[in-house]
Amino acid sequence: MKCFKIPVLFVLVNLGRSLAAPLNSETEQFSEDDWNQCRTYLKQFYNMTETKWRKSDTDMTEKIREMQEFFGLQVTGNLNHETLEVMKKGRCGVPDVEQFTLFPGQPRWSRNRITYRILNYTSELKRQEIDKAIALALKVWSDVTPLTFVKQGAGEADIMILFARGNHRDFNPFDGQGGILAHAFAPGSDLGGDTHFDEDERWTLSRDGINLFLVAAHEFGHALGLGHSTDRSALMFPTYSYVNTKGFRLPADDVKGIQALYGPHVDSRPAKPTEPWDRCNHQMSFDAITRLRGELWFFKNGTIWQKHPWRSDVTSIPIKSIFPNIQAVDAAFEYKDRDMAIFFEGSKYWLIRGLGTLKRYPRSIRLIGFPRSVTRVDAAVYIMERKQALFFVGQKYWSYDLRRNQMERGYPRRIMDDFPGIGNKVDSAFQNSGYLYLSNGPIQYEYDYMNKKVIRVLKTSSWLNCD
Ligand SMILES: [Zn+2]
Ligand SMILES: [Zn+2]
Repeated sequence: MKCFKIPVLFVLVNLGRSLAAPLNSETEQFSEDDWNQCRTYLKQFYNMTETKWRKSDTDMTEKIREMQEFFGLQVTGNLNHETLEVMKKGRCGVPDVEQFTLFPGQPRWSRNRITYRILNYTSELKRQEIDKAIALALKVWSDVTPLTFVKQGAGEADIMILFARGNHRDFNPFDGQGGILAHAFAPGSDLGGDTHFDEDERWTLSRDGINLFLVAAHEFGHALGLGHSTDRSALMFPTYSYVNTKGFRLPADDVKGIQALYGPHVDSRPAKPTEPWDRCNHQMSFDAITRLRGELWFFKNGTIWQKHPWRSDVTSIPIKSIFPNIQAVDAAFEYKDRDMAIFFEGSKYWLIRGLGTLKRYPRSIRLIGFPRSVTRVDAAVYIMERKQALFFVGQKYWSYDLRRNQMERGYPRRIMDDFPGIGNKVDSAFQNSGYLYLSNGPIQYEYDYMNKKVIRVLKTSSWLNCD
């Protein structure tokens, strides 16, 4: 059975055309054009139904009242000049009122890593300019949330971006220059999140024409699940108006809105341009080490060092640039049979597939079988030959049977008893070429698990091109 979802569509409109007919301010008489514009406006943005429309309709009065309220105008329920002026103003034409949907509640993305793809480019601007404007418009939102946006060159992305004119097969045709500038769909599958720009606009990066960065930033607010704000200073206010884009900062109202959906930015530490740790320091210890897709990953607070066996260089990246929800990894192991990894942070764990966390994670480590007294895992390692994962906690360790998917009986046991020669604590562990590498601070033991003996003593950092 196929499940259909009705995407919520948001439209950015610029109605800043010249008035077709002169207005008589004294008698408040309006031309048929004005009434038509008013009707179109209320239908498009205030959910007014078609039916037999007459100027005196109560639905019409009700909708004008709603619109006047939204914009903070004098609420009369009658069309007047002040109201018509606003209707003719450049505006983002999202429906300003709640729409009826099959799935009530605010739509949001269920993960923090969101992909986007730019399907085509307008000839008005250079490709790099458009790439940059789009990236900056997304950054407006990722700066204040745990969200990250990843550009994708092919395939289906969450946010598909395109320029199109007229009818472009989503039942929301564009209308030539002016009027509708762009529209975006609220989060969801298929069209959900997609953002379209009217090719017929004169797109610029300045105050002339239509500023692509500002329109894109506004539309991406919709693509992330925000509706319109009645706050005049908000980016999500319906009307389009130019503001200085240099050093643009998201207004407070929008920050509040987006954080209500996704929470605040997770990075509590100030960003540092270089790695905060000297990986080669003799006292250097690591929180966790694991193999992952052929590389060795070393974790220390918010940093990951990656070492490829055949390449000499070591790269360091912030954890949050790959896993925005994870601050630090205490223990990790790769479960290669299923092409997964498991990361532990405090009393939570994540399943990792590819470079993302799976849905519904993190979960409590109690679900793995740890008692309440265990609040963190120091180290974890997968022993492929035995389909067994070992978890080191304090001076003890546990064994988990991945075939039966349960903690083995008779654990925890003392590290000292079962791993002679390595001391009583393990803070990072991984398997490589048949041996276990068990670290206690800066000291690492190459350990033969089958024969229960230490082969060599190394420096933990020796893997990272440190002499
Ligand atoms: Zn809008
Ligand atoms: Zn469209």
